[in-house]
Amino acid sequence: MNQIVVTGSCLCEKVRYSITSEFQQFYFCHCKQCRKVTGSAFAANIQAKPAEITWISGAQYVKRFDYLGERLFTKVFCVECGSGLPFLNKSGTKLFIPAGSLDSKPCILPGHNIFWDDRSSWYEAGLSAPRYEGFAE
Ligand SMILES: [Zn+2]
Ligand SMILES: [Zn+2]
Repeated sequence: MNQIVVTGSCLCEKVRYSITSEFQQFYFCHCKQCRKVTGSAFAANIQAKPAEITWISGAQYVKRFDYLGERLFTKVFCVECGSGLPFLNKSGTKLFIPAGSLDSKPCILPGHNIFWDDRSSWYEAGLSAPRYEGFAE
């Protein structure tokens, strides 16, 4: 896969970033930590080759949290709005990009549901729930 440039931002748009890297894997992680930290069913992350994250704006709003549990768990986020942002793992061997933070379409599709056995009891029911363009009536 070729090197690609992607850009992204947080919800409040104070933080904007750009990354040039090679995407390796796009996965949904259903582990308990990812569910907690996103407040949702799973984390949608793109794993990429290590690369420098260029903070186009708002670098001062970027906070890193390393959770020292059974597995080291990292969350990087905007301190204003809480949105997840990309980060390098501690050893600097992998780059993780929360897919929802991207402003451009990633040239990779989700290929893995990891920590599947840890998925929430309601995740699969949601997949077959009725769909609406906006709010449900
Ligand atoms: Zn923000
Ligand atoms: Zn996880």
